Formats: sequence, structure tokens, C-alpha cells
Amino acid sequence: MVTAADRLSDVKTEIRSAETEFGRAEGSVRLIAVSKTFDIDAIRPVLEAGQRVFGENRVQEAMGKWPALRQEFEGIELHLIGPLQSNKAKEAVATFDVIHTVDRPKIAKALKAEMVKQGRDLPCFIQVNTGEEPQKAGIAPKDVDGFVRDCRDEVGLDVVGLMCIPPVDEAPGEHFALLEKIAGRNGLSEISMGMSSDYRVAIGFGATCVRVGSAIFGTRDYP
Ligand SMILES: *Cc1c(COP(=O)(O)O)cnc(C)c1O
Repeated sequence: MVTAADRLSDVKTEIRSAETEFGRAEGSVRLIAVSKTFDIDAIRPVLEAGQRVFGENRVQEAMGKWPALRQEFEGIELHLIGPLQSNKAKEAVATFDVIHTVDRPKIAKALKAEMVKQGRDLPCFIQVNTGEEPQKAGIAPKDVDGFVRDCRDEVGLDVVGLMCIPPVDEAPGEHFALLEKIAGRNGLSEISMGMSSDYRVAIGFGATCVRVGSAIFGTRDYP
């Protein structure tokens, strides 16, 4: 039987081979193992295989799983990759180490206020709606420069990079290229893009973090 640990190993091999193929420095791409919907018993073998960087998309779900796993394993780094409501900022700052989904001024301010209160300065990514899809979260490409400036200079967030989720029905390359371009002109070194189906492509376009779920944990029962 193929285990999650086997699939983790395959994904890591793929990442290394993509780094070589696309002339990226070895080790320049970090793997975020997306464990949403999977319970502690499904996550533990992946921790035992050495993975320490994980992504979750719901604050409540993460709060139910990760405190126990942090007791068992040292050095866990947990990334919030799903939408955030400002009334969950307190829990988000207490539970996560990196936030990928800053997408409006209200959230930026709520996060900063909580970070000050809790004495935790978390690295943040700005989510960009590269496909300008009405139902999708994220800042429109033309508004990103101003929003990054406000988050840094007025709110005082530690903005490290940009994140996107391309439209499901389009080739992702164009979106990845756009995100890389916007990150470059804003002097942002981190680019969070690429999921199970397209992380290789994303590495070709400069991803520094890929967010891979089902290719490691298997098919989810719900999205
Ligand atoms: C679920 C999710 C992923 C991982 O998706 P897979 O296709 O399972 O790799 C990546 N990014 C975000 C924002 C997600 O919600």
C-alpha cells in the first residue's frame, strides 16, 4: 500500500527535480503540506517522516488538531491558507505561525492588533485575486501595490510575499507569471503558489512555497 509518507517522499523528489529543471537554487522551494480535513492520526505519519511545515484553511479546525501535535513534535510551522474573518484574528494569531490570506484592510488591522497584544510578529502574505473572480478572495492585481504599501507602512505588518489560487478552469501559468511580476516590483521575495495539480509549473514561475494537499494525504472527502 502506498502511504502518505511515500507520497510525501515523491512530492519532495518532484520539487527537487523541478528546481533543477527550471534553474532554481536547490532548496529554494518550501513544501507546505496541506492537512485540511485530515485528522491527527492521518497527519502523524507525515510528521514522523520529517515534514514540519503544514497548511490549514480553517482556524477552528486547526485549533482542534495542532495543539496536541505540537506537544508531540518539535519545530512545527503552521500556515493559514484559508479565508480569515476579523473576529477570528485572535485565534488565528495564537494558532498559526504564518498567514497567507491577508486580503483587506480590516483583516490587516485586526491581525496587527492581535500580534501586538500577543507579542507575536507573524510573517504575512497578501492574497491576490489574479483571475479577478468575483467569488474569490484576494486583492485585484491593480490594487496590490497600494495595499502592500498600506499593510507595511501604515498597519506595520511584516509582509513577506504574495499568494494566489488561479481559476480552476484556466491554465495556471499566466496567473503564476502575473503573481511573480507583482511580487518583483514590490520587492517581495516570497511567492506562495502551486497545489497538487500544478506545483511543478509554479516552481517554473518562481514559487518559493508550494501548498500541496491531496498529492500527499490522498483525496479529501470534502473540499
Ligand atoms: C486545499 C488547498 C490547497 C491544497 O490543494 P491540493 O489540490 O489538495 O493540493 C492549497 N492551497 C489552498 C489555499 C487550499 O485551500
